Amino acid sequence: MSTYDWIVVGAGITGSALSYELAKKGFKVLLLDPNPLSDSATRYSYGGLAYWSGTTELTRTLCEEGRQRHLILSEELGINTELRELDLILPFNSPDDREILTQKYRYFATPPKFITIQEACELEPLLNPNAISGAFTVRHGQISPEHLNTGYIQGFKRWGGTLILDQVLQINPIGNQAVNVTTRLGQYQAEKIAICAGGFSRQLLKNAGISIPIYFTHTEILETPPVDLKLRTIVMSAAMERFQLEAKATQRDLERLWEKPGHELTPFILDKSAAQLLDGRIRMGQPSRALSDVNAAVNLLESETLIRQEIAKILPALANLPTTCYHCLVAFSSDSLPLMGAIANFDKIHIFSGFSNPLVFIPPLAQRFADFITGKSDPIITQLSPSRSMKSIR
Ligand SMILES: Cc1cc2nc3c(=O)[nH]c(=O)nc-3n(C[C@H](O)[C@H](O)[C@H](O)COP(=O)(O)OP(=O)(O)OC[C@H]3O[C@@H](n4cnc5c(N)ncnc54)[C@H](O)[C@@H]3O)c2cc1C
Repeated sequence: MSTYDWIVVGAGITGSALSYELAKKGFKVLLLDPNPLSDSATRYSYGGLAYWSGTTELTRTLCEEGRQRHLILSEELGINTELRELDLILPFNSPDDREILTQKYRYFATPPKFITIQEACELEPLLNPNAISGAFTVRHGQISPEHLNTGYIQGFKRWGGTLILDQVLQINPIGNQAVNVTTRLGQYQAEKIAICAGGFSRQLLKNAGISIPIYFTHTEILETPPVDLKLRTIVMSAAMERFQLEAKATQRDLERLWEKPGHELTPFILDKSAAQLLDGRIRMGQPSRALSDVNAAVNLLESETLIRQEIAKILPALANLPTTCYHCLVAFSSDSLPLMGAIANFDKIHIFSGFSNPLVFIPPLAQRFADFITGKSDPIITQLSPSRSMKSIR
């Protein structure tokens, strides 16, 4: 059996970035994923970079590091990540919301600023002026999430990393020495393992008898083929209800419900949103459902109808475009910060998942993580250790 320094499970943006940084440090790394960029959250992402959204010293530092890192990733990885800057428009539909949102946004490093209906429609002519009471706006980054993910995988291979298209079925710690994984195609062994399986991370760890507070939502999006219609901005519902859903679904008294399939932890929400990639494809959504079962059945036809109805209100020109509806899982944590590092009592098993501002944070944190495990002390990585949330569920 081949043995590695590290096995990384999952080749979405988290696993591919981490694998790249580990291989660059000289580790012998095996990256396992049955279908990279197939049904992953990264595949369906809008690619938005919320550099402006840091609210604490830690998140502001990571936002700035993320900005700097994205500026050089195209060159470093040898792929065009399609990095650009554009306006993010955050519309709201009740006049009362203006003051509430102003208060909410004032904690951000760059608070989105209020604009009138007319100003919002000048920035985004596809907006329906009759459906909004105003909007907030801020400059936002965007990349192609697929290009960045592919670039990391290609860079990883150039540094000598091995990608095998295979699904991990079971993680088996071997005492405190090593970790073995059983996959569809065989078995692999490594000194350490990093779980980067996005919304599947919780289930995978649970199968190994490890319970950690990492969660997932089910979400659906509509994607058009490349279209001539031009969305100038990224549009996202000002309330960003997804974050409230995450907070409610991770209240301590609901923890036990996550352990059993069949529960909806809190009512589903839909943040009306749309973004266009440089190749002309438009992605729009986005419902989020806190269902305790990774395999919960989702009715794509119903989701498609619902998303079209909601998008028709604010961006009517998008509502009748030809689309395909997709479903995926998105990982999150209880405090909007990722969990990264060794899991208590399982020294060889690491987690690197649960990002709430993932596309900005992952590149700098993958680098910091690789530095940390080669001996460089880093208060940020220490602060993001999964042990912080273990305390909260005990
Ligand atoms: C519609 C939508 C829009 C979004 N927009 C933005 C945005 O604008 N900005 C932003 O920052 N974030 C955005 N996000 C969130 C962000 O894209 C995701 O959080 C991020 O891409 C998740 O990356 P990941 O690597 O954790 O998970 P994923 O991309 O889901 O990757 C997980 C990988 O693990 C693999 N895997 C799972 N189980 C196993 C197993 N047992 N064995 C091997 N491999 C396994 C899967 O095949 C998959 O490839 C958006 C998400 C969605 C869905």
